[in-house]
Amino acid sequence: MDVEILDATDGQLRVKVSGADPTFMNAIRRIIMSEIPVTSIELLYIIENTGVLYDEIIAHRMGYIPLKGGEGLIFTKDCDCQGKGCPRCEAILTMDVTASEDNFKVLSGRLKAEGAVFAANTEIPIAELNAGQRLALEARARLGTAKQHAKWQPVSIAVVKYEPQIKIDQKACDLCALCVDECPKKILAIKDKRLVVTSQLACSLCKVCESICQKGSIKVTYDDSKAVLTIETAGGMANEELVSAAADVLLNKSSSLREALKELPEAA
Ligand SMILES: [Zn+2]
Repeated sequence: MDVEILDATDGQLRVKVSGADPTFMNAIRRIIMSEIPVTSIELLYIIENTGVLYDEIIAHRMGYIPLKGGEGLIFTKDCDCQGKGCPRCEAILTMDVTASEDNFKVLSGRLKAEGAVFAANTEIPIAELNAGQRLALEARARLGTAKQHAKWQPVSIAVVKYEPQIKIDQKACDLCALCVDECPKKILAIKDKRLVVTSQLACSLCKVCESICQKGSIKVTYDDSKAVLTIETAGGMANEELVSAAADVLLNKSSSLREALKELPEAA
């Protein structure tokens, strides 16, 4: 299996994986989407809220703030505290803001970390208060997975696309350029009296070019042994952490399956 990093910025990762089974790539994608343990705010105690937003709306917004620093936490269900919450399975964040002026924006940077967990981005709006209004609360962050609730989803996007294959029959092509104009990704061009593809990976496999060509000179297919995995992190975990965490989850699942198979009775 060959892995080539196409694009790695702070929030996005695109890797091309050649020689992997499509089911393997899909398993990695699905695990990134829903099975990586992530820390999010699970319990919220509102001490005082004199702003216009209901407590429930504040609680909903707080749940979706990406958090960092929860690596040492364990699942509450696996903890000795039996779900009550303790420093091993939850981290506390507090906030007490009184607006000094009208239209005062309360941002996630106001959350004070009482433990190792803190907001990944300090600019996320939580509420807007007028002068004298107060928002005071205590939040408990716990580990969870997106299988339980979307607030524990560590990515906004995780998609797998197979490598597009665009075959052009140059003898049949009459250079009418209809496909060049209609391609939504603008990846076809005419150069030196030939129709060429300028960026094969950018093709979205929509097949508009294929359907519009009256000469039938374009054929669009894909190669499922070459896949491009694109992920965009929500901010709580780095891209490389996500991929390696997904591989760990898959390895654990494989080990569990192997152990379970050993317990099956031998076939007669
Ligand atoms: Zn505990």
